[in-house]
Amino acid sequence: MHAANWRWQGATFVAVPQRQCARPGCNSVASATFTFDAEELIVWLDAPVDGGARAGELCERHVRALTPPQGWRLDDRRGKREAAAHDLANTLAARSPLLARAFRNSGGV
Ligand SMILES: [Zn+2]
Repeated sequence: MHAANWRWQGATFVAVPQRQCARPGCNSVASATFTFDAEELIVWLDAPVDGGARAGELCERHVRALTPPQGWRLDDRRGKREAAAHDLANTLAARSPLLARAFRNSGGV
């Protein structure tokens, strides 16, 4: 399925291809993008955004079934703010613990 959603991205109205759930055998449309930081033991859920860095995407059913490993935190940021996807990309770009910590201390999360 490759239908497209339309959404505002900055000042531009762009077509966003619908993504599918990453679970094998699941053809549902993804409703969340998940990323994680192995240093901070945190899993983030964000609304799928075109071009955003991501670890994977899940449909709503599989999001609900998602259980972080012991000691991990699950932070569902969907709908909290548009900037989340941008912050997410920054976090992933950083990768290194030092930069990730600097990012966190900047008040982003
Ligand atoms: Zn699914």
